Amino acid sequence: MATGDEEGHRRTVAAAAAQRRSMLRRIDAALARIEAGEYGWCAVCGEQIATTRLDREPTTAYCVACAGMARAAGR
Ligand SMILES: [Zn+2]
Repeated sequence: MATGDEEGHRRTVAAAAAQRRSMLRRIDAALARIEAGEYGWCAVCGEQIATTRLDREPTTAYCVACAGMARAAGR
């Protein structure tokens, strides 16, 4: 039945769209930080974020320590 395939496809597309939406939100937030001159500085402790980290994760707003703390807190 084609309807089952369509339903599965719709779900896949919806999941992919949700994933891209959250990615675009992170990019938007990163661009806003660039505009504000805050890009590359941790939003929590205000320390400089390592450029190697920004290379790997260009949209991050947190330094390694604060990101690790957020992860440990289950967020
Ligand atoms: Zn930090």
